[in-house]
Amino acid sequence: MKYTRKKCLKLWAEIIKERDKVCVVCGSEYHLNSHHLVDRKYWPFGEGLLLCAGCHSFSFLSAHRNGVWFSEWLKENRPKLFLKIKNYSYKKTKPPSYISVYEKLLKEKS
Ligand SMILES: [Zn+2]
Repeated sequence: MKYTRKKCLKLWAEIIKERDKVCVVCGSEYHLNSHHLVDRKYWPFGEGLLLCAGCHSFSFLSAHRNGVWFSEWLKENRPKLFLKIKNYSYKKTKPPSYISVYEKLLKEKS
């Protein structure tokens, strides 16, 4: 079995969806996307939140179009998560191998 990046990302997104169930910002149940709180280039399987398409990237006030707004939202609504992300040094850390990520994600899911 090949543990590809794509497979891991899919599993990661499923875990976020099962945990949050609705858009954490507006409560919508439709067009949900798992949002990477840290650039997935650096840390593809780190913290995430479930957002609807509007809050993720289409509205003026969305995570991708207005990072300052989203960061303020996070600070106010998820202060612990905000601090955790702010203090991580993802760029300095080498991401783990896909097989270890896959196994960790599977464990989280069960
Ligand atoms: Zn939303």
